[in-house]
This record gives sequence, C-alpha cells and structure tokens, in this order.
Amino acid sequence: MIIKTQADKLLNYLTDASNLPGGHAEKLFVPESAAEIAEILKEANEKKFSVTVSGARTGTVGGAIPFGGVLISMDKLNRIKEINNDFAVVESGVLLTDFQKAVDAKNLFYPPDPTEWSCQIGGTVATNASGARSFKYGATRKYVERLEVVLSSGELLNLRRGENFAKDGFVELETKNGNKIKAKVPTYLQPKTRKNTSGYFSTENLDAIDLFIGSEGTLGVITEIELTLLPKPQGFLSGIVFFEDEKDLLNFVNKAREISFETRQNQSAKLIDASLLEYFDENSLKFISEKFPETPENMAGAIFFEQETTEENEDVLFEQWNNLLEKYNADVEQSWFTTTEQDLIKMRDFRHALPVSVNERIVRYKQKKVGTDMAVPDEKFASFLKFYKQKLNTSGLDYVIFGHIGDNHLHANILPKDETEARKAKHLYGRFIAQAVMLGGTISAEHGIGKLKRHYLYVMYGERFLSEMIRLKRAFDPNGILGRGNMFDERFL
Ligand SMILES: Cc1cc2nc3c(=O)[nH]c(=O)nc-3n(C[C@H](O)[C@H](O)[C@H](O)COP(=O)(O)OP(=O)(O)OC[C@H]3O[C@@H](n4cnc5c(N)ncnc54)[C@H](O)[C@@H]3O)c2cc1C
Repeated sequence: MIIKTQADKLLNYLTDASNLPGGHAEKLFVPESAAEIAEILKEANEKKFSVTVSGARTGTVGGAIPFGGVLISMDKLNRIKEINNDFAVVESGVLLTDFQKAVDAKNLFYPPDPTEWSCQIGGTVATNASGARSFKYGATRKYVERLEVVLSSGELLNLRRGENFAKDGFVELETKNGNKIKAKVPTYLQPKTRKNTSGYFSTENLDAIDLFIGSEGTLGVITEIELTLLPKPQGFLSGIVFFEDEKDLLNFVNKAREISFETRQNQSAKLIDASLLEYFDENSLKFISEKFPETPENMAGAIFFEQETTEENEDVLFEQWNNLLEKYNADVEQSWFTTTEQDLIKMRDFRHALPVSVNERIVRYKQKKVGTDMAVPDEKFASFLKFYKQKLNTSGLDYVIFGHIGDNHLHANILPKDETEARKAKHLYGRFIAQAVMLGGTISAEHGIGKLKRHYLYVMYGERFLSEMIRLKRAFDPNGILGRGNMFDERFL
C-alpha cells in the first residue's frame, strides 16, 4: 500500500469539482484491498482520527474534501472482476468510463450516466448518482445488487439486496466476524419527488443496502459492488426541438411524460417512451449558440429527447413524436432529429456546449457559479419554474436554467460578474431552497449534500429527523470518524 505524507503529494486530493477551499489532511493511504482498508480503519477508530474516502473527486459538494485526519484513495481498487450476461462485479475504484467501455464491448448496457464519466463506480454508489437517462432508468440505486463495505471498526459487511429488511423500525446486520449491529431506521419518508439525494434513504420496509447507497462516505467504505446489467438497445431516435412559446413546451413535456409512463406500464414497443427529456431555457440557447451558431434565434426554449428504437419500430415512433410536436406547436422545421450515431454525438455535443460556455464565462469574471440541484413534486413544477424565472429576472443577474425536466429537476446556474453579484446570487439560492422545501421538494436531487449543503439539510428535515440520521450514523460509526463534515456539521456528532 502506498502512503503519502508530503504536502505536495496530497494537493490533488484536497479538492473536488466544488472547488471548496481549505481542504487539508495529514496522510493519504492508497490501499489495494479491503483488508488494507480494514487495517487503516481499525487504527483510526482506536485513535479517533477522521477518515475521508476519496473517489475520483468529481463530486460537486465537497464530500471527498478532507478537513483534517487521513484520506483513503480508492484509485488502486480498480479491478473489473466479472461481467456476465446480466450482472457485473467491480471493485469500487473502477472508473465509470472504463466500466461503460467494458460493458458495451459485451453488447450490454449499464444505464446510470451522471454526465461526468471520469468518476468511480464507488463514488456513484456513495452519491446515488443519476442523470438524464434516469427519467427512464432510475438512479444508480436501482442497479446495485450487492455491496461489500468496511465499517469504521474495520469489520466487513456483505449486503445483498432482498436479504436484510427493516423490522419494527430497526435493521439488524451481522458482520463477517459475527458481530450484530442494530440500527434504528429514520422515520421520515422521502419527498414526493422523482429523485432525491438529501440524507440517508428511508422508506417503509427498508432494505438495509439502501442505507449505504447515497451515504456519502459517512457509514462505511464501499469496496466491492455487484451491478445489474441490461441488454444493449439496438438504436436511438433523438431530437432537439425548439418552441417559441414556453407554455407549449411545458405542455409537450407533460404529455410526453404521461405517454411514456403509460407505454412502460403496457410494455408496448410501438409507442412514445422517452429515455430522457432535457430542457434548455432561452438563455441556455444563447450560450449554446456561441458554440453552435446554427441554433435558431428567438426561441423560448428547447427539449432534447431520446428513445430507444429497433429497425421495426423506428418509422412509426418518428411519426408519433412528430405528431406530438406539431400538436404542441414546436418549430418542427427548425428542429433536429436523428437515428444515426454520428448525429447523436453532435446532439450530445450540443448539450455539452452549455456547461463549457458557462464555465468559460465564469473563468472570465473570476467568479464561482451558484448552481441549484432542487426538485419538486410533479404538480408543483410549473410554479417552481415560474418562481425561478421571476426572481432571477428581477435580480438582474445572468443565469441559465437547464436539465432533467422529465424528472422535474432543473439546474439554475447563476453567473455573477463581481462580489456584489455573488452575494446576491447566494441570497437567491437560499430563497430557492426555502421555496423548494415549502413545496414539498428536495434540496438535492442528484449531487448530494456533502459539506456545502449540510446547513440546508437541516432546513429540509429539521432537528428531529436530523437527530435520527445522526443516531443511525452512530450505530455504524460510533466514534464518528467517517466522512466527517459530510451531511451534518461536526458539532452534531
Ligand atoms: C461536470 C460534472 C457533471 C456532473 N453531472 C452529474 C449528473 O448529471 N448527475 C449526478 O448524479 N452527478 C453528477 N455529477 C457529480 C457526481 O456526483 C459525481 O460525478 C460522482 O457521482 C462522484 O464520483 P467520484 O468517484 O468522483 O466521487 P468523489 O467526488 O470522490 O466522492 C463523492 C462522495 O462519495 C464518497 N465516496 C467515494 N467513493 C467512496 C467509496 N468507495 N466508499 C464510500 N464513500 C465513497 C466520498 O467520500 C464523497 O463523499 C457531475 C459532476 C461533474 C464534475
């Protein structure tokens, strides 16, 4: 096992995609097995020093940034152990991009796609990552069949889905050494949103494996993962469609979503069934046009949709999408459709052009963007979007709104040009949080809480439910050494 203590060797591990400053650690361990991780944790637990798990550090909320103690990098636990017809077994440090390539080579399909493929599979499990395709396929949680976890005591836990359900409000788990751990399940229910990564998962009849998925390095170190695989889709029909009127756009999305859900229920292969529905507001289109000058002007917004196809249903599906678009007054003439891999890549580039242009802008003004990750229940979505736009337009700040409209989950990126605007943007962020919570939504639908949003987790759940989460953490990590500062402030531990 490699151990590094020199400050310059640790530098890369002290930050992530959040750019949260001030990270520091005494030591970096790069173990090669669960047994080595167990040794590190045993010592840390005895001496009560904190341990931060470091994946690929693509997280956006500072979860992998240490503020003291030691770091465990998962870089060397990077073996794909097995890929079978319908499942795979990987060590948690395998990069998503390597895994996707290996799965694709076997003509199989692993749906979770959190845009940034340089992350590790362990990181995606620890944050329950999702993305555009989650509209049809759900988040990472849905594909996790088994986890091997090293607890803070150094003991190994093996969790297989379907084997450990909560009973009378408690989960009871047995470690590999035969020790029993009993933990009280939090009593809050998940918000009625399509996605949620705020705090520990909790539901009636909870499967214990779900506590660890999305636990952001606070309950244990995930070392091995078994994942479900699906057959590879034959083809795709994709479109980027433009609307002059936002009302039409929203009605189109509602109808496309409604038909997609009906189709899935009836398991029909000949009807509309979107795998993703992504939104770009008017400002996003202006940013994208810097890279794609062919983007039509004066549009209220655009939708990027995708549906899997076969040779048999491709034509009939194209006709159905076309009819739906005409019904809701999309500008079909100026919209783009494709079934070819090459054009599909171009469409994905179109989508990617937005974060690129936004980042260029941020660099130019030497400011940080303020990005939201909230989602609200279906029936509250239109009013939440209106709230976003009203507040942002009257603020005079520059912004773009885009993202996973199929899941009622949009990202508003506010782009301040100076310190005064940055303060204004932060204040607005707080207003959006309050509004999302008031509407029964979640403060984080896919990026997690980490260190950046722990104050807002308190706002969302209140003292009682936060205490329940902390009690759960203590059951698995009595000394509070793991992922310190993630989800809750250290003073609660
Ligand atoms: C450009 C960009 C786009 C993104 N888009 C999306 C998106 O569409 N959807 C989405 O869901 N996310 C998105 N993300 C963020 C996403 O959360 C991460 O990409 C990924 O899930 C984290 O994996 P990682 O290996 O980088 O983990 P890290 O950032 O290293 O860690 C994330 C958290 O998981 C913990 N952790 C990591 N590995 C383990 C382990 N083995 N055991 C226990 N805990 C562990 C860490 O302690 C930390 O708390 C995006 C990020 C970027 C930079």
